[in-house]
Amino acid sequence: MIVNYSKRWRIGDRILKEAGVEFLIKKWVGFPMKKLINGIINFRKNFLHEYRNRFSKLVAGQLPDALLITCCDSRVVPNILVSTNPGDLFVLRNIGNLVPPYQADYQHNTDTSVVAAIEFAVFTLKVSDIIICGHSECGAVSALLDKQFSSDNGALKTWLKYAEPAYKKFQQGLLIDSNLAPHNRLSRINVIQQLDHLQTYPCIAERLQAGTLRTHGWWFDLATANIYHHEPETENFILIDDKKAAKIFSMLFRKSSP
Ligand SMILES: [Zn+2]
Repeated sequence: MIVNYSKRWRIGDRILKEAGVEFLIKKWVGFPMKKLINGIINFRKNFLHEYRNRFSKLVAGQLPDALLITCCDSRVVPNILVSTNPGDLFVLRNIGNLVPPYQADYQHNTDTSVVAAIEFAVFTLKVSDIIICGHSECGAVSALLDKQFSSDNGALKTWLKYAEPAYKKFQQGLLIDSNLAPHNRLSRINVIQQLDHLQTYPCIAERLQAGTLRTHGWWFDLATANIYHHEPETENFILIDDKKAAKIFSMLFRKSSP
Protein backbone atom coordinates (compact mmCIF):
# COMPACT_ATOMS: atom_id res chain seq x y z
CA MET A 1 0.00 0.00 0.00
CA ILE A 2 2.83 2.38 0.86
CA VAL A 3 4.57 1.57 -2.42
CA ASN A 4 1.44 2.45 -4.36
CA TYR A 5 1.10 5.65 -2.47
CA SER A 6 4.70 6.67 -3.19
CA LYS A 7 4.13 5.95 -6.87
CA ARG A 8 1.06 8.12 -6.89
CA TRP A 9 2.99 10.84 -5.16
CA ARG A 10 5.78 10.75 -7.76
CA ILE A 11 3.30 10.88 -10.64
CA GLY A 12 1.48 13.77 -9.01
CA ASP A 13 4.76 15.57 -8.47
CA ARG A 14 5.77 15.24 -12.16
CA ILE A 15 2.41 16.51 -13.43
CA LEU A 16 2.58 19.46 -11.11
CA LYS A 17 6.08 20.36 -12.19
CA GLU A 18 4.94 20.34 -15.79
CA ALA A 19 2.08 22.61 -14.88
CA GLY A 20 4.53 24.96 -13.16
CA VAL A 21 2.51 25.23 -10.00
CA GLU A 22 4.08 22.42 -8.05
CA PHE A 23 4.59 24.40 -4.88
CA LEU A 24 0.92 25.20 -4.37
CA ILE A 25 -0.60 21.98 -5.61
CA LYS A 26 1.97 19.69 -4.01
CA LYS A 27 0.37 20.64 -0.73
CA TRP A 28 -3.10 19.73 -2.01
CA VAL A 29 -2.21 16.51 -3.75
CA GLY A 30 0.26 14.66 -1.64
CA PHE A 31 2.36 16.27 1.00
CA PRO A 32 -0.09 16.46 3.92
CA MET A 33 -1.13 12.81 3.51
CA LYS A 34 2.49 11.74 3.13
CA LYS A 35 3.26 13.52 6.39
CA LEU A 36 0.33 11.85 8.17
CA ILE A 37 1.15 8.36 6.94
CA ASN A 38 4.78 8.82 7.91
CA GLY A 39 3.46 9.93 11.29
CA ILE A 40 1.63 6.62 11.69
CA ILE A 41 4.78 4.73 10.77
CA ASN A 42 6.75 6.79 13.26
CA PHE A 43 4.16 6.09 15.97
CA ARG A 44 4.31 2.35 15.27
CA LYS A 45 8.08 2.37 15.40
CA ASN A 46 8.71 4.57 18.40
CA PHE A 47 5.62 4.81 20.60
CA LEU A 48 3.24 1.91 20.00
CA HIS A 49 5.03 -0.32 22.51
CA GLU A 50 4.28 2.27 25.22
CA TYR A 51 0.60 2.47 24.33
CA ARG A 52 -0.22 -1.08 23.29
CA ASN A 53 -1.01 -2.25 26.81
CA ARG A 54 -3.08 0.83 27.58
CA PHE A 55 -5.14 0.51 24.41
CA SER A 56 -5.72 -3.20 24.98
CA LYS A 57 -7.15 -2.42 28.45
CA LEU A 58 -9.40 0.25 26.93
CA VAL A 59 -11.09 -2.36 24.78
CA ALA A 60 -13.19 -3.17 27.87
CA GLY A 61 -14.60 0.37 27.89
CA GLN A 62 -13.87 3.99 28.68
CA LEU A 63 -14.06 5.84 31.96
CA PRO A 64 -12.88 9.35 31.09
CA ASP A 65 -12.10 11.93 33.77
CA ALA A 66 -14.04 14.70 32.08
CA LEU A 67 -15.95 15.93 29.07
CA LEU A 68 -13.90 18.60 27.32
CA ILE A 69 -15.70 20.85 24.85
CA THR A 70 -13.33 22.79 22.66
CA CYS A 71 -12.90 24.29 19.20
CA CYS A 72 -12.05 22.35 16.03
CA ASP A 73 -8.99 24.56 15.56
CA SER A 74 -5.96 22.41 14.68
CA ARG A 75 -3.76 24.46 17.00
CA VAL A 76 -5.70 23.38 20.08
CA VAL A 77 -4.36 19.97 21.14
CA PRO A 78 -6.14 18.93 24.35
CA ASN A 79 -4.28 15.72 25.14
CA ILE A 80 -0.88 17.39 24.86
CA LEU A 81 -1.90 20.49 26.78
CA VAL A 82 -3.21 18.61 29.79
CA SER A 83 -0.83 15.63 29.54
CA THR A 84 -3.59 13.07 29.28
CA ASN A 85 -3.54 9.53 27.98
CA PRO A 86 -5.97 7.67 25.73
CA GLY A 87 -9.22 7.15 27.64
CA ASP A 88 -8.76 10.16 29.94
CA LEU A 89 -10.76 12.79 28.08
CA PHE A 90 -14.09 12.58 26.30
CA VAL A 91 -13.72 15.36 23.76
CA LEU A 92 -16.41 17.23 21.86
CA ARG A 93 -15.09 19.62 19.23
CA ASN A 94 -16.98 22.08 17.11
CA ILE A 95 -16.46 25.47 15.54
CA GLY A 96 -16.09 27.98 18.38
CA ASN A 97 -16.64 25.48 21.25
CA LEU A 98 -20.34 26.25 21.28
CA VAL A 99 -23.16 24.64 23.25
CA PRO A 100 -26.62 25.30 21.83
CA PRO A 101 -29.05 26.10 24.66
CA TYR A 102 -31.21 23.12 25.58
CA GLN A 103 -34.49 22.69 23.72
CA ALA A 104 -37.05 20.17 24.90
CA ASP A 105 -38.04 19.42 21.30
CA TYR A 106 -34.45 18.85 20.19
CA GLN A 107 -35.56 15.87 18.12
CA HIS A 108 -36.56 18.44 15.51
CA ASN A 109 -33.39 20.43 15.94
CA THR A 110 -30.40 20.08 13.63
CA ASP A 111 -27.85 20.50 16.41
CA THR A 112 -28.40 17.15 18.06
CA SER A 113 -24.73 16.18 17.78
CA VAL A 114 -23.81 18.38 20.73
CA VAL A 115 -26.83 17.29 22.77
CA ALA A 116 -26.02 13.63 22.11
CA ALA A 117 -22.40 14.03 23.23
CA ILE A 118 -23.37 15.89 26.41
CA GLU A 119 -26.08 13.39 27.33
CA PHE A 120 -23.80 10.43 26.61
CA ALA A 121 -21.08 11.94 28.81
CA VAL A 122 -23.50 12.65 31.65
CA PHE A 123 -25.86 9.66 31.56
CA THR A 124 -23.62 6.87 30.30
CA LEU A 125 -20.06 7.85 31.15
CA LYS A 126 -21.18 9.70 34.31
CA VAL A 127 -18.40 12.27 34.08
CA SER A 128 -17.96 14.43 37.15
CA ASP A 129 -16.55 17.45 35.32
CA ILE A 130 -17.30 19.31 32.10
CA ILE A 131 -14.79 21.81 30.77
CA ILE A 132 -15.38 24.36 28.04
CA CYS A 133 -12.07 25.45 26.58
CA GLY A 134 -11.91 28.45 24.27
CA HIS A 135 -8.74 29.79 22.76
CA SER A 136 -7.00 32.90 21.47
CA GLU A 137 -6.99 33.76 17.76
CA CYS A 138 -10.18 31.75 17.29
CA GLY A 139 -11.40 32.03 13.69
CA ALA A 140 -15.02 31.50 14.73
CA VAL A 141 -14.85 34.37 17.20
CA SER A 142 -13.14 36.61 14.64
CA ALA A 143 -15.89 35.77 12.13
CA LEU A 144 -18.47 36.71 14.73
CA LEU A 145 -16.68 39.98 15.34
CA ASP A 146 -16.12 40.88 11.70
CA LYS A 147 -19.54 39.71 10.46
CA GLN A 148 -17.95 38.93 7.13
CA PHE A 149 -19.89 35.96 5.81
CA SER A 150 -20.04 34.87 2.20
CA SER A 151 -22.41 32.40 0.57
CA ASP A 152 -19.67 29.79 1.14
CA ASN A 153 -19.99 29.98 4.89
CA GLY A 154 -23.72 30.33 5.39
CA ALA A 155 -23.77 27.36 7.74
CA LEU A 156 -21.08 28.98 9.85
CA LYS A 157 -23.19 32.11 10.17
CA THR A 158 -26.15 30.01 11.31
CA TRP A 159 -24.03 28.02 13.77
CA LEU A 160 -22.52 31.16 15.30
CA LYS A 161 -25.94 32.31 16.48
CA TYR A 162 -25.11 30.34 19.64
CA ALA A 163 -22.33 32.81 20.34
CA GLU A 164 -24.43 35.90 19.63
CA PRO A 165 -25.31 36.48 23.32
CA ALA A 166 -21.57 36.66 24.03
CA TYR A 167 -21.16 39.15 21.22
CA LYS A 168 -23.92 41.32 22.70
CA LYS A 169 -22.18 41.33 26.09
CA PHE A 170 -18.94 42.24 24.35
CA GLN A 171 -20.67 45.15 22.61
CA GLN A 172 -22.12 46.28 25.92
CA GLY A 173 -18.56 46.58 27.20
CA LEU A 174 -18.33 43.57 29.50
CA LEU A 175 -14.74 43.69 30.68
CA ILE A 176 -12.90 40.43 30.92
CA ASP A 177 -9.38 41.67 30.48
CA SER A 178 -9.10 45.02 28.79
CA ASN A 179 -5.48 44.30 27.86
CA LEU A 180 -6.54 41.58 25.48
CA ALA A 181 -7.21 42.19 21.79
CA PRO A 182 -10.97 42.50 21.08
CA HIS A 183 -11.29 39.06 19.46
CA ASN A 184 -9.57 37.42 22.43
CA ARG A 185 -11.74 39.32 24.91
CA LEU A 186 -14.81 38.11 23.04
CA SER A 187 -13.41 34.58 23.02
CA ARG A 188 -13.23 34.61 26.84
CA ILE A 189 -16.75 36.04 27.13
CA ASN A 190 -17.86 33.24 24.84
CA VAL A 191 -16.47 30.61 27.22
CA ILE A 192 -18.60 32.07 30.03
CA GLN A 193 -21.62 32.23 27.73
CA GLN A 194 -21.32 28.60 26.75
CA LEU A 195 -21.02 27.64 30.44
CA ASP A 196 -24.37 29.38 30.93
CA HIS A 197 -25.81 27.40 28.03
CA LEU A 198 -24.65 24.17 29.65
CA GLN A 199 -26.77 24.95 32.68
CA THR A 200 -29.92 25.02 30.53
CA TYR A 201 -29.64 21.22 30.20
CA PRO A 202 -31.82 19.63 32.87
CA CYS A 203 -29.40 16.73 33.34
CA ILE A 204 -26.60 19.22 34.06
CA ALA A 205 -28.61 21.64 36.19
CA GLU A 206 -29.81 18.79 38.41
CA ARG A 207 -26.32 17.44 38.95
CA LEU A 208 -24.81 20.87 39.57
CA GLN A 209 -27.50 21.42 42.19
CA ALA A 210 -26.78 18.03 43.76
CA GLY A 211 -23.02 18.67 43.72
CA THR A 212 -22.30 15.59 41.61
CA LEU A 213 -21.10 17.54 38.56
CA ARG A 214 -18.88 20.58 38.10
CA THR A 215 -18.43 22.82 35.08
CA HIS A 216 -15.27 24.76 34.31
CA GLY A 217 -14.18 27.41 31.83
CA TRP A 218 -10.69 27.31 30.38
CA TRP A 219 -9.00 29.53 27.84
CA PHE A 220 -5.90 28.57 25.88
CA ASP A 221 -3.50 31.28 24.75
CA LEU A 222 -1.75 30.18 21.58
CA ALA A 223 1.14 32.63 21.78
CA THR A 224 2.31 31.42 25.19
CA ALA A 225 0.67 27.96 25.30
CA ASN A 226 -0.73 28.97 28.70
CA ILE A 227 -4.13 27.79 29.91
CA TYR A 228 -6.31 30.00 32.09
CA HIS A 229 -9.05 28.96 34.49
CA HIS A 230 -12.28 30.97 34.78
CA GLU A 231 -12.98 32.25 38.27
CA PRO A 232 -16.79 32.71 38.48
CA GLU A 233 -16.68 35.10 41.47
CA THR A 234 -14.60 37.70 39.62
CA GLU A 235 -15.11 36.64 35.99
CA ASN A 236 -11.31 36.70 35.74
CA PHE A 237 -9.27 34.04 34.03
CA ILE A 238 -6.39 32.81 36.22
CA LEU A 239 -3.23 31.34 34.74
CA ILE A 240 -2.98 27.66 35.61
CA ASP A 241 0.58 27.27 36.90
CA ASP A 242 2.23 25.83 39.99
CA LYS A 243 1.76 29.12 41.89
CA LYS A 244 -1.99 29.35 41.24
CA ALA A 245 -2.75 25.64 41.44
CA ALA A 246 -3.52 25.74 45.19
CA LYS A 247 -5.97 28.60 44.69
CA ILE A 248 -7.68 26.78 41.83
CA PHE A 249 -7.89 23.53 43.82
CA SER A 250 -9.45 25.32 46.80
CA MET A 251 -11.92 27.02 44.45
CA LEU A 252 -12.90 23.62 43.04
CA PHE A 253 -13.25 22.17 46.53
CA ARG A 254 -15.55 25.04 47.56
CA LYS A 255 -17.65 24.50 44.45
CA SER A 256 -18.09 20.82 45.15
CA SER A 257 -19.08 21.32 48.81
CA PRO A 258 -22.82 21.10 49.48
ZN1 LIG B 1 -11.54 28.35 17.46
